[in-house]
Amino acid sequence: MYRLISIVFIISLLFLQSINAKEIDLVTFETSPIGKYLSYFPESGDTPLTLIAAQNVFNSGQVFTQNRQTISRGIYVEPTWFKTTINNRASLSTQYRLTIETPWLDYIDVFLVNDSGSIQHIKGGDYLPISKQPIFDRFFAMDIQFEKGLTDIYIRIATESVMPVPIKLSTVEDAINNASNDKFQYGFLYGILVALALYNAVLFFSIRKQIFGLYALYILGFVVNSLSYTGYFYTFYTTHHGVHFQDYMDVSLMITYSVIGLHFGRALLETIKYAPRLNKTIATVSNIIPFIILSLFLIDQLHFATLVAFLFNTSFAILTIILGVVAVKAKVKVAKIYLISSVTAAMCVSLSTAAVAGIFPYNSLTFKAIEVGMAFEGILLAVALASRFRDAQRDKEQAEDFARKDELTDIYNRRGFKYATTELFTKFRQNNECFGLLLLDIDKFKNVNDDFGHATGDLVIIQVANLIANTVRKIDIVARWGEEFIVLLPLKNEIEALRLAEDIRSAIEKLDTRYFDESVKVTASIGVCITRFDDANLLRSDTVVFEKLISNADHALYQAKINGRNNVYIYNNETANIRDLKTEGILKVT
Ligand code: GH3
Ligand code: MG
Ligand code: MG
Repeated sequence: MYRLISIVFIISLLFLQSINAKEIDLVTFETSPIGKYLSYFPESGDTPLTLIAAQNVFNSGQVFTQNRQTISRGIYVEPTWFKTTINNRASLSTQYRLTIETPWLDYIDVFLVNDSGSIQHIKGGDYLPISKQPIFDRFFAMDIQFEKGLTDIYIRIATESVMPVPIKLSTVEDAINNASNDKFQYGFLYGILVALALYNAVLFFSIRKQIFGLYALYILGFVVNSLSYTGYFYTFYTTHHGVHFQDYMDVSLMITYSVIGLHFGRALLETIKYAPRLNKTIATVSNIIPFIILSLFLIDQLHFATLVAFLFNTSFAILTIILGVVAVKAKVKVAKIYLISSVTAAMCVSLSTAAVAGIFPYNSLTFKAIEVGMAFEGILLAVALASRFRDAQRDKEQAEDFARKDELTDIYNRRGFKYATTELFTKFRQNNECFGLLLLDIDKFKNVNDDFGHATGDLVIIQVANLIANTVRKIDIVARWGEEFIVLLPLKNEIEALRLAEDIRSAIEKLDTRYFDESVKVTASIGVCITRFDDANLLRSDTVVFEKLISNADHALYQAKINGRNNVYIYNNETANIRDLKTEGILKVT
């Protein structure tokens, strides 16, 4: 590979203009990246060039220039020498800060050579602990005192992974302001992401749904990865583990969060349901990649691992977009949000990469586009996740509701009745309220089925159900099983229950169901029981009180049946104030 690059380089030399980049005039210069003032050449051979040898190359003019703010040397390249010349026309010396804003460069050697021939050599890069760097910063930074006249700056950079070289010259004040703006902007973005991640982590631990955990891990994984490759990690964890520690860490973290991101995407979009093959492929890829990277680490192939990681990260963006497109086609509800978020994230990554590569204006925002995109993605995905969870919850409620309703009449079945009355019972118990139960059974219903058929029987049941539902009050709860109906009534006084029962009975009597030309007439018998949570009932459980209520109402219903049907009977217990009811003339006591 080296040989190939050297041949390409030698051929390109033939076409080179023998010209160095123009010098920087400090009088007119304003804080900025200095890519277009740099000449550079890649070092060939196995031993590092001396400064003199490098100076000779620059003097020969056999060097490159680029009209971009930032020079990017790509992945896995030879050590590269850069040179720029500073012209200080002012009579006073002035101080500037030189920064090389890629935090993972392995070896940085800066040589300052001025008119008088004095030479300074400043060292930095990951091979040194942060305490040995010229300035305690997240990337290489050093202050330079420019005397009157010309100063040549030679920089040699050697690194095993990617080599974007955003070299910047700022006034010290600008540099300090920029660094603090940076901290504020990153803090803001990380703040959003960490808050989202923690919130979803809490959801994961409380409702035990895996997807919330995946979301939290994905977002936190990204934040940790970003802290690592922006160099912040090393400003608070200063222990030195050798020149390649940061590279290993960047690659591992990059892979980790991308893999979790794919798992999250598949889970959120439920890809397995409509694209099982895509799901399997992505699952396989995301299982194999970490394994490959780990193996490359073990055989000490860092640059190869970096290459795989970069390729995978690019494919990661593409895979999330594919996941999104397939899900949109399958009409998955959150798919559009997911797709928008993954396309945005991919665009932001490209923007950042383009900025680092110098294709796009390099500024603090374009460089942070990845984090900005991720904050945007984090918010959108949290919305998608919440919306999916809400839908699932609604489906569950609908299914539960379905299981509680009687198919024929759409009023509660026995299960639904039990469920709906629980809350009312708590209220009765608290307020010591009077309440009653009606049991209604259609008289001689078998005859309806026999004479007019089961379908007509069903029709009668529907009509009776509607009639009861329309007669009772909103607070009452109606249910049916078979041709029997049950109503639970909160009551102000006992007579209310009997009036309601009587209203229902007389309305059923008047019902008229058509069977071709014939009219189908039915009557119903009703048993009523009234009670309240008196001292004795308070000691009983809801179920016991409820069962007693039903069995008493059933007893009353039985009395209504044997006493001629089409009747309302009330169960005689001490709670019911039957004397008043008797005078109303509608009461028949068991
Ligand atoms: P009684 O006056 O003593 O109540 O006489 P009955 O004929 O109504 O006797 P019973 O209550 O024992 O009979 C209930 C009948 O109701 C039996 C069953 O076939 C019928 N039935 C139960 N559920 C339905 C239903 O959903 N649709 C129809 N069409 N008939 C039903
Ligand atoms: Mg019956
Ligand atoms: Mg009956």
